[in-house]
Amino acid sequence: MKPCPSCGAQIEANEGYPFWCEHCDWNLAVPSKERQGKAWERLERKMRDTYGQALFKELKGRTELVTKQGVSERVASAYSLVVIGCSVAGFLFSLYGLVAWYSSPFILISCLLVLLFAWLSRPRPHPFPKMTILLNADEHPTTMKIFETVAQKMGVEKRIQFALSPYYEAYTTEYGWRRRRVVVIGYPLLFACTPGELTALLAHELAHCRNNDIRRSALVSHAQRILLNWCDLLDPIQDEDDEYHFSFIATFSRGIMRLLLWIPYRLLAVLIHLYWNQSQRAEYEADRMAAQLTGSQHLISLLQIIHMNDVVEPLIARHSLQKQSMTLGQHLHETFSKLPGKEKMRIVRILERSQQSMDTTHPATHMRIAMLLHQDAPPAYKISDWEYNRICQEMTDHLQEKMEHRIIDDYRAKLV
Ligand SMILES: [Zn+2]
Ligand SMILES: [Zn+2]
Repeated sequence: MKPCPSCGAQIEANEGYPFWCEHCDWNLAVPSKERQGKAWERLERKMRDTYGQALFKELKGRTELVTKQGVSERVASAYSLVVIGCSVAGFLFSLYGLVAWYSSPFILISCLLVLLFAWLSRPRPHPFPKMTILLNADEHPTTMKIFETVAQKMGVEKRIQFALSPYYEAYTTEYGWRRRRVVVIGYPLLFACTPGELTALLAHELAHCRNNDIRRSALVSHAQRILLNWCDLLDPIQDEDDEYHFSFIATFSRGIMRLLLWIPYRLLAVLIHLYWNQSQRAEYEADRMAAQLTGSQHLISLLQIIHMNDVVEPLIARHSLQKQSMTLGQHLHETFSKLPGKEKMRIVRILERSQQSMDTTHPATHMRIAMLLHQDAPPAYKISDWEYNRICQEMTDHLQEKMEHRIIDDYRAKLV
């Protein structure tokens, strides 16, 4: 215990963790909201904040969420079809234009431009997530069995693949033309989790699989890519690039482009708004379903540790500087199992003050926590300590060296 330099109250000091005051928020270091990024990125953040609060109030009153019958979802799909349709029409019209009016250079250039954009916006299969390694039943039999048990308990019928990534993250995605679904769990996160938190993590991701959340957004994401390509074309120069400010022609052409940008920018805003409703609802619904299996407390605790990048990074830094007596996984496991309660309190407080979220498609994390507390559910199932240790052992046996190399290489690359 030490006195707070600001209010004088006696506060707990934990070695290796920031010293801060829970009474007056001294040294809490709330990150300021970012102002940088492209125009549409700022728009996304702003919309998420205002929209998220309204949705929270709406959903708080309900016990059952209705993600499937969302009107906005249908409108978003219809809207996306129109955008995609226009893109295809533009492509066909340009092809026609090339043949019919090839003698006019202006039309020719416009047609080529539209064709180029149709090409850039063409539908593509999702690539396999970068730097990840698929888990298989030969090398990780117990892990696969446990993960599949959780999938079964979450009511997922289709086969789901699981993969490990070198980052402190977890998400569900699909890849290839056949759109195979894969739940990706970060190696550092896996070791940072308690058995209860890992169960909550799997349950949340598998709830997305069960609700078909990724598949339903494919149409929207294609339309979004078309509009984003147009936005990027019309807003290529960031404000920080001073070089271009002095040329009159550049300023003039930028002015015109800004006017033109207004069109895809507004179209994108409408799409984001429609899509927001869906993606944020999907997060709340996945949280609710996961909490019914694993209990609200494990999920809340998971949401807290997921934001603890500043505990994970120094550990990775230490391992990248010098060989340690433990593996990175063991080190993470040990650190997180001894995490002081006050550190979790600090993260929660920062989340409340800064409205942070995992990314812009997610509701602010403190609101997800508030919703879970509101609909408090007791745990019904948890991966046992023995099972959890088996999972860690299988990861250490087959993937530890490869994964930890990737993590450290990636960390070093960022330093350069
Ligand atoms: Zn104080
Ligand atoms: Zn989610």
